[in-house]
Amino acid sequence: MISADEALERLKRGNRDFVTRLRSADTLAGSQAELVQQQEPFAIVLGCSDARVPAELVFNQGLGDLFVIRVAGNIVAPSQIGSIEFAAAMFGTRLVVVLGHSQCGAIQATLNELQQPTENQSPNLASIVKRVRPSVARLLKTDLRHDHAALVAAAVRANVDKSVRQLRRGSAILEDLIENDGLKVVGAEYAVETGEVAFFDGAA
Ligand SMILES: [Zn+2]
Repeated sequence: MISADEALERLKRGNRDFVTRLRSADTLAGSQAELVQQQEPFAIVLGCSDARVPAELVFNQGLGDLFVIRVAGNIVAPSQIGSIEFAAAMFGTRLVVVLGHSQCGAIQATLNELQQPTENQSPNLASIVKRVRPSVARLLKTDLRHDHAALVAAAVRANVDKSVRQLRRGSAILEDLIENDGLKVVGAEYAVETGEVAFFDGAA
């Protein structure tokens, strides 16, 4: 395990290297000057906090390109909707991607919780599990319950679908932008095994 102090040191060193690179690259410095004044992200990504799925890296994008919201299980709660409303309204960003991923710990924790409820779960953690639960509970009533890997995979997909539906229907502002101004909300899944992102919901 890396201690907190060591971790902090590593971040400081990382940022020093980042700044050095920023100063040495002319083209980046040019765009950096623009970015000081404004941002114009071309896509909004609602992704999971999982350390293996940083949106900017998996989509090969740089500073200012993506407006990213990350929360365990890529769930939709009011603060996530508010962040998306903000970006769509302020920056004119017209694509929202809900990005789930294979091997998602939040999905697995929810499945475990449904199969073997723990006592005294933290209410904060429970609030995440509660939002993932509806979309995966019904899968436990199907034959998938006999195949853990297939169950987790289907649950990841169902959870992304649920977030997509919530974003399409859970906000008057987003609904209006979808109806009248070209906003699109699509679902996607990142495979930690291969690095590939599959787009599947409304992305055709
Ligand atoms: Zn995850």
